[in-house]
Amino acid sequence: MPSDYAGLRSELAAATRILAGHRLVGMFGHVSVLTDDPSSYLVCPGAGARKDRCRASDVIELDLDHEFEAGLPLELYMHSEVHRLKPHIKSLIHVHSPGLVALAAMAEVPTDLLMMHASFWPESMPVWAEPDLVRDRAAAQRLIGILGDEAIALLRWHGAVIVGHTLQEALMRAILAEEHAQQLITALSHGRALAPVPKTVDRGELYQKVLSARTHDMHFGYAKTFVEVELGARGGA
Ligand SMILES: [Zn+2]
Repeated sequence: MPSDYAGLRSELAAATRILAGHRLVGMFGHVSVLTDDPSSYLVCPGAGARKDRCRASDVIELDLDHEFEAGLPLELYMHSEVHRLKPHIKSLIHVHSPGLVALAAMAEVPTDLLMMHASFWPESMPVWAEPDLVRDRAAAQRLIGILGDEAIALLRWHGAVIVGHTLQEALMRAILAEEHAQQLITALSHGRALAPVPKTVDRGELYQKVLSARTHDMHFGYAKTFVEVELGARGGA
């Protein structure tokens, strides 16, 4: 990550556009990244903003104690509280994407691993089960407690949060989490016997082999080229 916030703003804006390109964020959904100063973080704009058009100048810098106000994501506190309680987690992404929402409504969330690239998938999925949005700081702290040390937690009837040690890792995980959710739902629909990654395989080790930090960075560079072209077509970045 660049040490200057201008670079980080630019990266967060690009990540927001990439997530929008994958339909992971739109009117709902948001992404944050912790700055080098662990008391402040950057977040994309809230529900009224077009995420697919997010530019560095649209990114908002907040301190951890900042209270919600118009223009910010309504569920802002999930970001402030993950950055407060888990400063080694640099980025959190919240999505309402269809595959993850469908899984989040299941009484028992499937945890078979059907693709190696989703090896961050928890062996026991954390599930937030309060029938409301994550509206305040206390609720956000409960959510981050449920997340524990996992990469993802589902929110029943709602969506998911995905975290990463870098923005690039969180971004790639979010995209792959929705893909894996779709795979699991398809598997439930066809009902045929599955051959998931064997339970004897250590998912952490598999993740290190398949999804290194270099891969996250390469993916970010690759994905960015698509959204930069789109911005250029609208008359400059
Ligand atoms: Zn939400």
